[in-house]
Amino acid sequence: MDSNEATIDLTDLDAVRVYALPMHTRFRGITVREGVLLGGPSGWGEFCPFEDYSDAESVPWLNAALEACAGNWPEPVREVVPVNCTVPAVDADRCHEIAANSGCSTAKVKVADAAQTPGEDIERVAAVRDALGGSGAVRVDANGLWDVDSATTRIRELDRAAGGLEYVEQPCATLDELAAVRRRVDVRIAADESIRRAEDPLRVAVAGAADVAILKATPLGGVHRALRVAESCGLPCVVSSAVESSVGLAAQLALAGSLPQLPFACGLGTMSLLDGDTVADSLHTSEGHLPVPRRAPAPDPARVAAATPSAATQRRWLDRLGRVHALL
Ligand SMILES: [Mg+2]
Repeated sequence: MDSNEATIDLTDLDAVRVYALPMHTRFRGITVREGVLLGGPSGWGEFCPFEDYSDAESVPWLNAALEACAGNWPEPVREVVPVNCTVPAVDADRCHEIAANSGCSTAKVKVADAAQTPGEDIERVAAVRDALGGSGAVRVDANGLWDVDSATTRIRELDRAAGGLEYVEQPCATLDELAAVRRRVDVRIAADESIRRAEDPLRVAVAGAADVAILKATPLGGVHRALRVAESCGLPCVVSSAVESSVGLAAQLALAGSLPQLPFACGLGTMSLLDGDTVADSLHTSEGHLPVPRRAPAPDPARVAAATPSAATQRRWLDRLGRVHALL
């Protein structure tokens, strides 16, 4: 075990609250975000692995939640973090509107989604560039959906449509494919799923396959562990959320606040994807920035009550929490 890793018996937690928050737009195939808030001796943590994560894969998510509620976060080196807005798989007009109203100078556009054709992705990216103006930064995320040849073609097209892409996130599924694409295009390649879902994120050899590492504190097992992944990969890092409520998002901000260098805007402006929150004072982006909190905000009883799902859903999450805790 890591010296920074916090453990606590579930029966010793002060509070365990299951929540379900509707999402404004389908994201990662889901329309409701669910998870569990854990209250412990040092505050609050959020356990919210996506549905497709097995119990074993969910262990780091629980470690991250326990670090927040029963452990500590490192001292931050900055007070605020620049964030990008996220443009989901919606039509070009809506893309323009989202980017224009975000207050952010960097936008990440989800591309390669089955809902859009390559031609529509070009229009969407062009609309986002138009909304941000020439000084903004446009990045795209393909979530590993292209093969090497289509990635090469699509990236060149989208780079032209964007008047220059900042980077392309996970164009293909595997590191070998990322390396092949990286040799063929001039746009920076960022690795996301390749790190997050690697057997051992501390040992994944992203150098050569990517120019930028996307880190998420939650699936990497907490802030301390994600900082070690940042150090071992030796690449500039971007912190990105797992669409947590503000309790879990605070841990991501703690990571972004502690990285020695932060050359790009972070993917943490995701409260805008959720309809509601678990806290009263939501971590909503203001003028393209979010504050770095010292602890997660405490849940608001009324908002948690409003977000409490059916007894069956609560049972499913408490069972999952118990099974994953047994694997620690
Ligand atoms: Mg991504």
